[in-house]
Amino acid sequence: MATPDGIGESECLNCGRAVVVRKNRGGFAYCRCEGCGVNVQHHIMRHSEAFIQKRVRLEGAPESLKKPEKAAPAAPAKPAAQPVPEAGKKPEKAAPELSAAEKFMRGIK
Ligand SMILES: [Zn+2]
Repeated sequence: MATPDGIGESECLNCGRAVVVRKNRGGFAYCRCEGCGVNVQHHIMRHSEAFIQKRVRLEGAPESLKKPEKAAPAAPAKPAAQPVPEAGKKPEKAAPELSAAEKFMRGIK
């Protein structure tokens, strides 16, 4: 009998280390801390489910159930593609300084 896959991550109740939470054949959540060796095994389905709901970061859960830092932002907005200057065409330079006469002619003070 293969070990059931982990359903998510939680913290050890004893030392706070990250632990993988699994479900046993009966569907009860359990985990074992590799840091301090504490075993957590639920035997009451209500407790097991409450534990999963409150303390386990589920893998493959809807975004709303995940911690914000794990939620990947929706497709990032890409900046609009900059128009590429045509080959051989020099980019337009800033308007040259107008002479006093030209300013006068254009009504610029
Ligand atoms: Zn521990």
